[in-house]
Amino acid sequence: MVRAAVLPAVSQPLIVTEIEIPAPGPGQVRVRLAAAGVCHSDLSLSNGTLRQPVPVVLGHEGAGTVIEVGEGVTAVAPGDRVVLNWAPSCGACHFCALDEPWLCANAGAGATAPYAKLASDGSELYAGLGTAVFAEETVVPENAILPLPDGIPLTDAALLGCAVLTGYGAVHHAARVRGGESVAVFGVGGVGLSVLQSARIADAGPVIAVDVSPAKEELARAAGATDFLLASDDTAKQIRKLTGGYGADVAIECVGRADTIRTAWSSTRRGGRTTVVGIGGADQVVTFSALELFYFGRTLSGCVYGNSDPARDLPVLAEHIRAGRLDLGAMVTERIGLEGIPAAFSAMSRGVGGRALVVF
Ligand SMILES: [Zn+2]
Ligand SMILES: [Zn+2]
Repeated sequence: MVRAAVLPAVSQPLIVTEIEIPAPGPGQVRVRLAAAGVCHSDLSLSNGTLRQPVPVVLGHEGAGTVIEVGEGVTAVAPGDRVVLNWAPSCGACHFCALDEPWLCANAGAGATAPYAKLASDGSELYAGLGTAVFAEETVVPENAILPLPDGIPLTDAALLGCAVLTGYGAVHHAARVRGGESVAVFGVGGVGLSVLQSARIADAGPVIAVDVSPAKEELARAAGATDFLLASDDTAKQIRKLTGGYGADVAIECVGRADTIRTAWSSTRRGGRTTVVGIGGADQVVTFSALELFYFGRTLSGCVYGNSDPARDLPVLAEHIRAGRLDLGAMVTERIGLEGIPAAFSAMSRGVGGRALVVF
C-alpha cells in the first residue's frame, strides 16, 4: 500500500489515502517517486476543463527511482533514476512515422484503463495522464520512462517531465527563437518561468514577461526577463513601445485563455510568431478579422508538450542544467506534501507562485 492524492470525482476535494498498485506487468515499470510538480493541467483535470476518467490519481510531472520491472523490460533496471513522460510515443503511428512523437496517436492510452485500487473499498482508480505521480509509487509502461542523466538532483528533475520540456520546447522547437529576437511571455507560472529561462538560453532580447500578479516580477526577472508588465488593457501597446513600435518577434502564451491569446497575437510584430502553450477550455474562443490575418502576416501556432521528443531533448536539457544555464530549483517556489496539493491548486488559480513541488 502507498499513499496517494485521489480525486474521487470532478470538482471534488482531493483525498490523501492509501491505494494498492499491482506489481508491474509485462513491459511495465514501478517507480518510487522522489517528487512531483503540481501543474496547471492537474487543476484543469480536477475541475473538468480537461477530461479524464475518475476516480483518478492525478500528477504527471514526476521523477523517482525504479524499484521493480515487469517481464521484457530492458531500458531500465531497479535503482535507475528516471523522469516520467506523460506523452509516451508508440513509435509506430502516423505521427511517430513523421518524427512528431509529441502528437503520437496512442500517447493517451495509459489513462483509459484502471491501474490501481483504493485500499479502503477496492474501487478502481485511473492514472492521471497515464502517470499518476501524486502518489508515493506508480506503475507505468516502459516507454513512459526517461533515464535521468547524471549530475541532476532527483527531486528538482521532476520539473523536466512537464514544465521544462514544454517551456524549452516552446522556445526552441515551436517558436524557434533566434538570438537577438524580442520575446513576450504571457503567464509566469512553472511553464512561463521555463520559457523565460529558455529564451535566455536562446540569447533573445528584450524578453518581456507579462502576468496579472505584481509578485511575479522578481521571479520573472530572475528567470531572465528584461522587462515585466502587469497585464492590462494596454499590454499590447506597452509591448510595442518596448520593441521599437513593432511588437515582439515572438509572443508565447502560457495561460490558455482567449483574452490572453488575443493579447499575445496583438503584441506580435507583423510577420512574427504567436505560439500558444497554455491549455484552455473548449469555451475559450479567440476571434480574428480576415483583414488583420492578411495585413499582419503573423503565424499563430499551437504546441503540444513543447513539440518535444523527450528522449532526444532530455540529454540537451541536462547539459544546460550542468552548465548552469537552466536552473530548475529557481522555478520551485514551494515544497509541499501530498496534503498541500489543494492549497497549491488554489494558489495557482489566484496566480500566486511558480511551481509547487510535492517532495516525498
Ligand atoms: Zn503539466
Ligand atoms: Zn505513435
